Amino acid sequence: MINYSIRPINPAAHLFAIRCEVPNPSPEGQEFFLPAWIPGSYMIRDFAKNIVRLVAESDGQVVATDKIDKQTWRCAPCAGTLVISYQVYAWDLSVRAAHLDGTHGYFNGTSVFLMVKGQETAACTVDIQRPAGAPFEKWRLATAMSRDGAAPLEFGRYRAANYDELVDHPVEMGTFSHGSFEACGVRHEIAITGHHNADMDRLERDLKKICETQIRFFGEPAPMQHYVFLVTAVGEGYGGLEHRASTSLLCSRDDLPAPGMNEITESYRTFLGLCSHEYFHTWHVKRIKPAAFIPYDLSREVNTSLLWIFEGFTSYYDDHMLVRSGLISPVTYLEMLGQSLTRVYRTPGRFLQSAGESSFDAWTKFYKQDENSPNAIVSYYVKGALVALSLDLMLRRETDGKFSLDDIMQHLWREFGLKGVGLGERQFPAIVQQVTGCDFSAFLDAAVAGTADLPLGELFAAVGVDFSLRAATSQDDKGGKPAPAGQSKPRGVLGVKTAGAEGGVRIVHAFEGGAAQAAGLSAGDIVVAAAGLRVTGSNIERIVAAHEIGVPLKIHAFRRDELMVFDATPLEALPDTCVVQVRANLTPEIQQQLDAWLGAPNSA
Ligand code: ZN
Repeated sequence: MINYSIRPINPAAHLFAIRCEVPNPSPEGQEFFLPAWIPGSYMIRDFAKNIVRLVAESDGQVVATDKIDKQTWRCAPCAGTLVISYQVYAWDLSVRAAHLDGTHGYFNGTSVFLMVKGQETAACTVDIQRPAGAPFEKWRLATAMSRDGAAPLEFGRYRAANYDELVDHPVEMGTFSHGSFEACGVRHEIAITGHHNADMDRLERDLKKICETQIRFFGEPAPMQHYVFLVTAVGEGYGGLEHRASTSLLCSRDDLPAPGMNEITESYRTFLGLCSHEYFHTWHVKRIKPAAFIPYDLSREVNTSLLWIFEGFTSYYDDHMLVRSGLISPVTYLEMLGQSLTRVYRTPGRFLQSAGESSFDAWTKFYKQDENSPNAIVSYYVKGALVALSLDLMLRRETDGKFSLDDIMQHLWREFGLKGVGLGERQFPAIVQQVTGCDFSAFLDAAVAGTADLPLGELFAAVGVDFSLRAATSQDDKGGKPAPAGQSKPRGVLGVKTAGAEGGVRIVHAFEGGAAQAAGLSAGDIVVAAAGLRVTGSNIERIVAAHEIGVPLKIHAFRRDELMVFDATPLEALPDTCVVQVRANLTPEIQQQLDAWLGAPNSA
């Protein structure tokens, strides 16, 4: 048994004090290390950089400690219980690390708990202590970690079966709002930190629908006995990280439902989609896992070419579960799907990087994006979701509605998740064949290792849905809907994404094959004039659109502090914006296929 304690020792200085007590240290000299990354976020973050003042002692005597690499320490051999004491600087307000100030504390175990090498499987206890002082008397605590003497929502002793479990239960402490509900017999809690005005009853009602739909999808009983949504509301933010019995979410406070609001606004839909996504991971990636993640090696990058399955399929099902649980209509769902497809179709890099390559290189490419990323990579989230969609529609068509992707997911749950067996890198096509009797290996090879666009038009047609591509009406056009009437004239564009900047606009991306790139303009350039007119914010699109396609115009831009002049020839906007809509007058057979696919409770 390894005993940890953690105390916010100085919230103003953002410091947690941690003690780790090892009753049976290795006789050769015990080694400790702090993870370099956190599961679910595939980037080396070197959490050990935040450790300050580490000391070891045994029987009241200091034990000599050597640091042997960026994240590992080795203690001199000692006979009795070894105690390591250290402090962690916690000032990263994200779902991936730790944060502490006078308003709240939050930590992931990967940021604060040293792993005792060779004793990873030992059971752990953690005494989570309240900060000292009157201002903290009202603080409560939210976590899905098992209580070991602590009262519900209270500081005190918690436990975990091993290190892997210990670091998979983030902890929030402070004066958060709290709500709870039951879904299929499982207690669910919501803790919201930060200024907000959310309607907690509404949240409980809507999340309950999503949770019940997903638990029933994989089959009761749910794999966890207790689940916690840890939400941090900020002015502007978005992010989530999945855990085995909880999720940490960062959202804009305006995405939460205001009291008295009955509809599902676009921003609330975004929040529910994020909750649905992370909740789906409870099964898919936290229990059904790539074999490469069993166990996680937290000391270095672990590459897998399967993130298109684990993140892509989750991205496909997250919004799908909103329509299945009756929270959004099929029409709204198709609009959201059109927007997701648009994100893929606006990425020239999809012709250079496959979904499998995108997964493998997540650590150095997807998680380290730069100005050239849209030209060079494709997201395994959106491309993977598109593969899931295509496979789902193809299975339904080829088997006359007998099988769908749902059967594959449920098989993965029974044969891999429940049994703790990892999914091999090349195993998936054989599983599809085993479950459905159909050989989709050629399609999957092309979709996952290839870079050609998938045959969406014909697949959508089989369920009575029209898929079409049109030009964007502006860079703010997210797609999903037809263009407003009366905009049939082709629009000239520079092939850039821009953002407001002092004195003009900054080029964020210059897209491959676009007019700006051909003229020599680059990401980072500040455009100050186009066609002799001053550029201010969004007017650059209008200036260029008013100019004739194919005729060069002068662009004045600063690169660093040097003024440069470019001759750019606007090109016709590409048809890169997807519209997905139900056809009129469906036959009863096709209507039935559509209802089966969208699975809305009352769409029949
Ligand atoms: Zn995810």
